[in-house]
Amino acid sequence: MAKLSDVQDWKLNTDNFITDIIERDLQQGKNGGAVVTRFPPEPNGYLHIGHGKALVLNFGMAARYGGKCNLRFDDTNPAKEEMEYVNGIINDVKWLVGHDSFDILWSSDYFQFIYDRAVDLVKRGLAFMDDDSSEEISKKRGAPTDKGTPSPYRGRSIDENLKLFQDMTDGKFEEGSCCLRAKIDMDSPNLNLRDPILYRIKKAPHHNTGTKWCVYPMYDWAHGWEDSIEGVTHSLCSLEYDNHRPLYDWFLDQFPEYHHPRQYEFNRLNITNTVLSKRKLIQLVKEGRVKGWDDPRMPTLCGLRRRGYTASSVRKFVEMAGCSRTDGMVDLGMLEFSIREELNKTAPRVMGVFDPIKVTLTNYPAGKTETVSVENNPELPETGSREVPFGPNLLIDGEDFAEVPVKGWFRMAPGAEVRLKGAYFVKVNEVVKDASGKVVELKCTYDPASRGGESPDGRKVKGTIQWVSADHGVEVETRLYSPLLTVENAASIPEDQDWLNFIDPASLTIAKAWVEPSVAQAQPGVGYQFMRKGYFCLDSDSKPGAPVFNRTVTLKDTWGKQGR
Ligand code: ATP
Ligand code: MG
Repeated sequence: MAKLSDVQDWKLNTDNFITDIIERDLQQGKNGGAVVTRFPPEPNGYLHIGHGKALVLNFGMAARYGGKCNLRFDDTNPAKEEMEYVNGIINDVKWLVGHDSFDILWSSDYFQFIYDRAVDLVKRGLAFMDDDSSEEISKKRGAPTDKGTPSPYRGRSIDENLKLFQDMTDGKFEEGSCCLRAKIDMDSPNLNLRDPILYRIKKAPHHNTGTKWCVYPMYDWAHGWEDSIEGVTHSLCSLEYDNHRPLYDWFLDQFPEYHHPRQYEFNRLNITNTVLSKRKLIQLVKEGRVKGWDDPRMPTLCGLRRRGYTASSVRKFVEMAGCSRTDGMVDLGMLEFSIREELNKTAPRVMGVFDPIKVTLTNYPAGKTETVSVENNPELPETGSREVPFGPNLLIDGEDFAEVPVKGWFRMAPGAEVRLKGAYFVKVNEVVKDASGKVVELKCTYDPASRGGESPDGRKVKGTIQWVSADHGVEVETRLYSPLLTVENAASIPEDQDWLNFIDPASLTIAKAWVEPSVAQAQPGVGYQFMRKGYFCLDSDSKPGAPVFNRTVTLKDTWGKQGR
């Protein structure tokens, strides 16, 4: 794994309102010139590209300002969290940020400290034990337009609260029978300030602290402390936390002796024709609607990686999508654009044919085979060329022949001459069909003088098509993807309809292809352009002798062309 020094060229390059804030803070000498951020996932699912945005912002800003970003697991809910997710998240973060020199921290490491601060609040009359049920608590909290109803237990004495909180901590009460609440303001227009819950009982073992605790802090209470302990300077989160900020600040304001980070909120990433919600992604996996978290149709980081997205293309996408305080929807085409642009520059070109038609060269010397040289990537001449086996029995792509060509058709047609990429000019003399009338073979002659693709007599052909030697080509399975959902905005699906009905059954289609033999040596994680067919990468389902390729993205750009 690369160290930070190797990827120093990666930092957030685009400016946004948060970089403006950080630069102002640095100018004013705040935080002693330090920039400390964190990415705080809850390990209750794999990361999706929305988390990718938060990751790129937090790690990218720390890198840009010479600061530090921690990976901190928000493991405050023992019931929902699993080690599989923890390991998956660590893996995804390393991949996306391109190094592993970040600290991995746990909210649970701070449980004692956070607990002690709650006791401080109780001692100062700022927190109380409530025996109301959670239903009563939320009912009495009321609506923003009217006042809340204080709990009947709000007036308990400090001593009683201390004793009850201790009893609760000692496991003397049942789950749900009581909780510890801050005593703030039941009339606040911000519901988060209406005596928020600090601790509730959960009698489930915790992966880190075992059975030491049966009381666990609520997110809002714990989060500011975690930031404070880690010396976070800019606590970045998505916009839904905007109205939690007054609470974040209220908690820390009660303890001026501790470091008080500042919270800033940015817009969540939403992408057309997909869902970015762990809850919904879990549903897809659990109900078998996809083949797991890393199904290449999933907007998860592991799914995108398996599909053939590179970390740099995802980082680029996040930068393009921008960071503001206005929620919106990003076109899926922009994500595809980011990987297509990159693979256009880096991916070796190889030849592959789908729905093939046999081509037989009738004048090719019997028993002969040869190799021809084909350039690896016209965008990168320094990558040279490779030798591709050629012979009298070839396959061409079904789309490259038209029995009745339309005007402007330059590919194969009866009587027409085309160039076989890197090889020879060939001319179709006879079209052979099967009983159903389907074209199955083209009998052609080739011009031996046109080897390499140019004719010495100066004769020109307009079309160049890919081909595979039928005697040497490799059969592969390809998986072709289109967007997961048939609806652009998943949030627009009416409440009374099941969103799962909007999954496109055609989002995965499987097609056989024949590829030139060099593709049999394809490496996982490397993108190839199957000429004129799209960018592909080897899938982890591949077995020796049975390669499987995912189409990462088509060649056609539907997004960049719109002039955005
Ligand atoms: P989900 O809504 O998908 O369940 P979450 O917000 O509950 O996600 P967390 O693990 O709590 O998931 O999120 C970790 C961080 O990622 C948080 O700081 C959160 O603000 C951020 N985040 C989550 N989803 C998005 C998104 N779509 N766009 C930008 N940031 C996001
Ligand atoms: Mg969350």
